[in-house]
Amino acid sequence: MRRKMVAGNWKMNMNFQEAEELLDELVDRLDKELEGHDVDVVVCPPAPYLEMAYDLGTSEEDENQVYFSVGAQNVNEHDKGAYTGEISASMLASMNVEYCIVGHSERRKYYAESNQQVARKVEILLQNEIVPIVCCGESLEERESGNHFKVIEKQLAESLFQLKPLDFARLVIAYEPVWAIGTGKTATPAEAQEVHAFIRNLIQEKYGKEMARQTTLLYGGSCNAATAPELFACPDIDGGLIGGASLKADDFIRIINAFE
Ligand code: PEP
Repeated sequence: MRRKMVAGNWKMNMNFQEAEELLDELVDRLDKELEGHDVDVVVCPPAPYLEMAYDLGTSEEDENQVYFSVGAQNVNEHDKGAYTGEISASMLASMNVEYCIVGHSERRKYYAESNQQVARKVEILLQNEIVPIVCCGESLEERESGNHFKVIEKQLAESLFQLKPLDFARLVIAYEPVWAIGTGKTATPAEAQEVHAFIRNLIQEKYGKEMARQTTLLYGGSCNAATAPELFACPDIDGGLIGGASLKADDFIRIINAFE
């Protein structure tokens, strides 16, 4: 179902104590300032802190009071077995992880993650009732050569469009132009909206109008408290996947507050 959403991707940052402090501050601020807000908030810390994030993000007095959901930054595409250092979807599910980022451009670049691997990760996450947040987006070179629409279409066709409608309906897509990630260069609202509308149209062609209308599409790439309001006001942008600005509670809270 289409939702307003802000997800924080901490990447490989924070030691244990710093992570605990940030999570505590987030809980405190969300408790005081955002009671009853209508935004799904997801925190994706490094894997060793997932359990702490779940524990701190759930009220001790009332376990139905959840300040944010917990997401992982990666998952292995295999079920289980001899894959030293890897983490399976069933392990994540057993730790109350509700979301998992897949196909982030840093994983595509540094770990050669292919669209086919993304497809397998998405499937195993869905089998384990974890919502994949699937990233797509073009490099600067691809944008400058006018190939960005083609690149995104191929990423989605090869990693997601094999899914049955009932499965597709459960995921979230994040458009993250690679040239905007960690560079301080946010896409303009017009650039982001254009691609989001294009993605919604691809979904409509493959799965029909209602699916396109109901899919949650996030923007990611140097989104911050200053740029979020205009981006989130775009008709096809449902929120953000936030890297650097999710590492400071104040910035993250202001982004959550950026919806009209
Ligand atoms: C990201 O890594 O998903 C991201 C959007 O990073 P940043 O906000 O730092 O550009």
